[in-house]
Amino acid sequence: MAIPNVRIPSRQLYIDGEWREPVKKNRIPIISPATEEIIGEIPAATEEDVDIAVEAARRALARDDWGSTTGAQRAKYLRAIAAKDDVAASFEYYADLAEALDSKRKTPVDLHLDSFKTYVLREPLGVVGLITPWNYPLLMATWKVAPALAAGCAAILKPSELASITCLELGEICREVGLPPGALNILTGLGPEAGAPLVSHPHVDKIAFTGSGATGVKIMTAAAQLVKPVTLELGGKSPIVVFDDIDNLDLAVEWTLFGCFANAGQVCSATSRLILQESIASEFLERLLLWIKNIKISDPLEEDCKLGPIVSSGQYEKVLKFISKAKDEGATILCGGERPQHMKKGYYVQPTIITDVNTSMEIWKEEVFGPVLCVKTFKTEEEAIELANDTKYGLASAIMSKDVERCERFTKAFQTGIIWFNCSQPTFTQLPWGGRKRSGFGRDLGEWGLENYLNIKQVTQYTSVEPWAFYKSPSKV
Ligand code: NAD
Repeated sequence: MAIPNVRIPSRQLYIDGEWREPVKKNRIPIISPATEEIIGEIPAATEEDVDIAVEAARRALARDDWGSTTGAQRAKYLRAIAAKDDVAASFEYYADLAEALDSKRKTPVDLHLDSFKTYVLREPLGVVGLITPWNYPLLMATWKVAPALAAGCAAILKPSELASITCLELGEICREVGLPPGALNILTGLGPEAGAPLVSHPHVDKIAFTGSGATGVKIMTAAAQLVKPVTLELGGKSPIVVFDDIDNLDLAVEWTLFGCFANAGQVCSATSRLILQESIASEFLERLLLWIKNIKISDPLEEDCKLGPIVSSGQYEKVLKFISKAKDEGATILCGGERPQHMKKGYYVQPTIITDVNTSMEIWKEEVFGPVLCVKTFKTEEEAIELANDTKYGLASAIMSKDVERCERFTKAFQTGIIWFNCSQPTFTQLPWGGRKRSGFGRDLGEWGLENYLNIKQVTQYTSVEPWAFYKSPSKV
């Protein structure tokens, strides 16, 4: 089958409404994970470019064309971006929230006191740094860019060096729709060179980060030196618990596959630990093996591709190492575990199921970020809950059962920010997204996503003409 020829535009950094060459003129090659060939390059920003972008963002906030806009005016830009953009729904959604913000900017608080009038202001937080990962590059960026602009912040986006192309195209769209210069700046480049200076920059008011736990710790540590607020959307090792009362085994099998193998398992909320009631375990696994045969593994640009490559050679080696360590620790590779034979090039890994797992194994505990599902069985509900929560992470959990009351008991028991009943992974812009424990804190999406970029200010006005009378007035001494 012919694979479409994709032309990668050659871009610079997007700063102050225009394309600018990085100060040090460095560039990073883009390697296609499907072919292992160099298909283009991106500019590599450094500290010097961060300084220029932060100044541009500060100027945007001080100018009327951005700093004094109403939510309704900003909504127009967001809708214009949506009209040209693949992640339109998020921009449309936050356009609505920007408009709604106008009536919530100033909220009176009635103290039932004659001598005071008070209100609360919701203001843009200022200049915000948005640092995002490669797994859904434009979507992860949009979950932060759209609410930050809706709130009226000026933003600097630092996408992952492994997947920056679509984010740079967002820059071109912003230029085309006339977004005021500096409102959004896009700095591609390496984490330590372009991301770290953004985190420690004294004129960046907040960092919103999505990425790995290890980088999250570095960001929180650096931001703490300036008492800079952060939100962290980190990794996971999410469970999917399947009970024997499910009506339709195939439906549960399909959600289990989708929950772990969609996007080749490179999903922070992937339900990569299957916790299966013992009574249906062998039948369920047999069905999984049948369904897996129908997963088309190919270049993602080919029609009907259901499993593409891992993003980079480094990540590919990491996934294979997880699988071989599981084998060394005594687990069984029920299927997969290797490069698919028909894919001679590219970083492809077969959908892999691992059984005979115990809770001390690395494969049970650590996020693989590849198409690898590990399986444990349980007899009782208590045992299932204990296994589900047996993780340092707390992003998502799924339960498959027709017993609604049981599902509700699990809702309380799961120690995660996202819970799916009889499905896994469907994600909606209106709902809060984020985790607890080592999966981080703060929420993207929904109205919670907007709150991330707002500063709450209380205003207290003394309205009485009477003296305060805490001290004695000199006239009365
Ligand atoms: P990563 O931590 O390697 O990189 C994320 C971003 O941080 C990149 O832009 C990178 O350049 C930058 N970075 C790296 N070092 C930095 C530093 N010292 N200072 C500032 N920035 C730095 O993560 P990744 O490999 O791109 O993404 C995969 C991870 O993201 C997985 O762990 C996954 O679970 C997580 N993730 C979480 C969510 C969520 O919503 N919770 C969503 C998607 C991905």
